[in-house]
Amino acid sequence: MAETQPVRGFRDLTAPESTRTAALEAAARETLSLYGFSEIRLPTLELAELFVKSTGETSDIVEKEMFRFEDQGGRALALRPEGTPGVVRAYLDKSLRQQGGPVKLYYVGSMFRAERPQKGRYREFEQIGVETLGNPHPAADVEAILALNALFAALGLEGRVRLRVNNLGCDTEASCRPAFRDALRAYLHKHLDTLCDSCKRRVDRNPLRVLDCKGDGPRLSAEAPRFASCAACKAHVDQVSALLTDNGLTHAYPDPTLVRGLDYYTRTVFEFAGTGLGSQDAVAGGGRYDGLVKLMGGPDTPAVGWALGVERLLLAVEASDPSFKKLEAHRGTGRDVFVAVQGTEAPTLAKATRLMETMRRFSIRAGGGLFASSLKAQMREAGREEARWCVIIGDAEAAKLPPTCQLKDMTTGAQSEVLIDAVKDAIATSLSKKEPTHGL
Ligand SMILES: [Zn+2]
Ligand SMILES: [Zn+2]
Repeated sequence: MAETQPVRGFRDLTAPESTRTAALEAAARETLSLYGFSEIRLPTLELAELFVKSTGETSDIVEKEMFRFEDQGGRALALRPEGTPGVVRAYLDKSLRQQGGPVKLYYVGSMFRAERPQKGRYREFEQIGVETLGNPHPAADVEAILALNALFAALGLEGRVRLRVNNLGCDTEASCRPAFRDALRAYLHKHLDTLCDSCKRRVDRNPLRVLDCKGDGPRLSAEAPRFASCAACKAHVDQVSALLTDNGLTHAYPDPTLVRGLDYYTRTVFEFAGTGLGSQDAVAGGGRYDGLVKLMGGPDTPAVGWALGVERLLLAVEASDPSFKKLEAHRGTGRDVFVAVQGTEAPTLAKATRLMETMRRFSIRAGGGLFASSLKAQMREAGREEARWCVIIGDAEAAKLPPTCQLKDMTTGAQSEVLIDAVKDAIATSLSKKEPTHGL
C-alpha cells in the first residue's frame, strides 16, 4: 500500500473548508474587480534567481524557507514563496506595461515555504494579493488599502481588524535609508556578540533585517538609532495617512515597530491585524516598492501592493461569524464610474477619494486615483476602462458651498454641473443600485 498521507506540512482541503475558501476567493474577486484590479494567474514554479534577486538573499524566506531544486536540465528552480516577484516578472515580460496607464493586478494562489509545520501553518498556503504598477501618487497606496478594508467589511470583519501604517523611507536619497543603515550598522557592530548567527551574517549586508529578527529585533529596537526619512518620503506617507483618515479609516501612524521583512519596500508599509488571533495576528500586509521593477532590470516604475493569508483570514472570519453566513459571493467586472481630478488641493483630493468610497459601498464600480496626471491623461484612462460615467472634480468647484463637480455621460458625451453630494444617487438611479452592500 502506497503512502496515502500528503507530504508533511501539506494537506488535502475538503468541504467545508474548501467551500469556504472558494467563497472567500469569490468575495475577494468581486471586491477587487470593484476597485478595478484584474486577475493574473502566475506560474507556481520560477527560476530561483527571481526570488533571490527580488525577495532578497538575506531574507528568511530565501535563506531558509524556499523550496529549491534542480530540474532535469540542471536549472535552479523554486516553488514561489510569494506573489510579487512573479507579478513584476510578468509585467516586464508581457505587453502589460505598453498599455500606457497604470497596471492593476490581483492574484489568488498557493505559495510555498519550508517553515516548521505547526497548527494553522502549512508549507503550502494560499495568498491573495494586489499590485498597482505605474502610479506614484499616494492615492494608489490609499486605494490598495481601501480595497483590502472593503474586503474585510464584505466578510463582516468591521471593527475586528486594525490598521497600522509606517514610513520606511527610500534608498534613492542619501539622507534617507542609506544614512539610517550606516548608523544602524555601527550600532549593531557594538553589540555583535549578542546577536544570533543569522543576524551576525546580516549586519554588514542588511542591518535592517536584524530589527526584524524574532529573537534579536525586540531586544535591540528600543535602543537602536531611530529612523528619520527624507522630506519627500514623509510627505508621501503623511498624505496616505490623511487620505485614509478622510475616508474614515482609523489607523496607527507612524508605527515604528512596523518594519516588514522584505528588502524591497519603500515609503508606505501597512499591516492589518485581526483581534484575538494571538501573537502572529497579521492577516494582511504590504507597501510601496518603488525600486523593485528597476532592480529586476525594468524601467523606473513606482508600485504598491499587499498580500493576505487566506487561512488566517478564514480564522478571523470564523471568530466573528462561526456559521460563516456572511461568506456569500457575487461576481462582477467592468467599470461604472471614473473619477478625475483637475487640481492639487488636499480638500479636492479628499472629496474625490470619499466620493469613490461612497459609490463602492453601493456596488458602483468606481475607479480613478490618477490625480497627479493631466486631466487629458485621466480622461484617456476613463475611455480605456470603458467607464459609463465620468466625474470631474476641480479645485474651484470643489471649494464652492455646497461643492459641485462635472458629471459626464460617457455614452452621449453630455456634461453638466451637479452637487458632489448628488452624484452617487444620480449614478445609482441610472444603474439601479440603491442599497449599500457594506458599511464603513
Ligand atoms: Zn526618502
Ligand atoms: Zn537574529
